[in-house]
Amino acid sequence: RSKENGSNSYQFYTEDMHKRALERLEIENCLRKALEKCELSIVYQPRFNIRTGYIVGAEALVRWNHPVLGSISPSVFIPIAEETGIIHDIGKWVLYNACKQTYYWYNNVDTDFQISVNISAIQFQRDDLVDIVKKVLSDTGLKPTMLELEVTENTIMQKTEKTLNNIKELKEIGVKISIDDFGTGFSSLSYMKEFHFDNLKIDKSFIQDIGVSYSNESIISAIISMAHSMGMTVVAEGVETEYQLDFLITRNCDEVQGYLFSTPLTAEEFMFNYLCNDKIYKEA
Ligand code: C2E
Ligand code: MG
Ligand code: MG
Ligand code: MG
Repeated sequence: RSKENGSNSYQFYTEDMHKRALERLEIENCLRKALEKCELSIVYQPRFNIRTGYIVGAEALVRWNHPVLGSISPSVFIPIAEETGIIHDIGKWVLYNACKQTYYWYNNVDTDFQISVNISAIQFQRDDLVDIVKKVLSDTGLKPTMLELEVTENTIMQKTEKTLNNIKELKEIGVKISIDDFGTGFSSLSYMKEFHFDNLKIDKSFIQDIGVSYSNESIISAIISMAHSMGMTVVAEGVETEYQLDFLITRNCDEVQGYLFSTPLTAEEFMFNYLCNDKIYKEA
């Protein structure tokens, strides 16, 4: 395409690509050291029961603050971590620290809620995932039922033996499993039935279409009915407006997460806002 625009733009195009490749390489090199240099951290976004407004859990989201490059989004570095295999170490680190933090809250603030940790498809393809989870639970003391692992729809589509077995074994030890970003992938109804997921999280792209696209509103309703008929709880992610919240209430959605209630918070902010004193819940 660029070639047809003349040699000048071709030049720009390749320079641009070159620059991007360099940037990527730099991110990759830095990412390898990010863990030991303690540049990674975890933020927590609360999730609420849509009817009572009670907090029911939090999602752990990794953050990377590079001293020179600044804060780099997980949607940029997670794919690179996956391609390079660094995700195994990062994933383990997030899992351990999120569980440790939650156990601390559970013990000191006496609140029983679920911590959700994102697990990439790559991690599900390894034999040691279940052992890693078991070890983290025993090292931190967290009850398996307080841990929920979020797998994307595309993870379950790669219906490998290993992924299947890992999910089954994790469910057997009491860990909850949810499907993340639902609606963006291509999972079939038969898979969904087979796995008995606990939660389904509707992707925020659908939520943002509430009041905008009538057909996507119908899809949301259909997803909620289907999930309920399969015994799953439905979580709407990326709820930003009262209008979206009202719509989700009328369509029988169970739980909500999004900027309307709270952005992801540091552990300290999270504890202060949601767990301390009488503020064990917030009105939705
Ligand atoms: P996700 O698991 O679907 O997480 C939800 C994302 O939506 C988060 O972005 C969150 O900050 C953002 N979000 C929450 N509420 C709102 C809202 O009201 N509006 C909008 N526009 N966005 C909202 P974040 O933290 O940038 O993470 C992006 C993705 O990176 C995550 O999507 C997840 O796929 C991945 N990710 C984050 N942390 C981890 C991790 O520890 N491990 C793995 N494997 N992936 C992770
Ligand atoms: Mg998630
Ligand atoms: Mg999601
Ligand atoms: Mg996402």
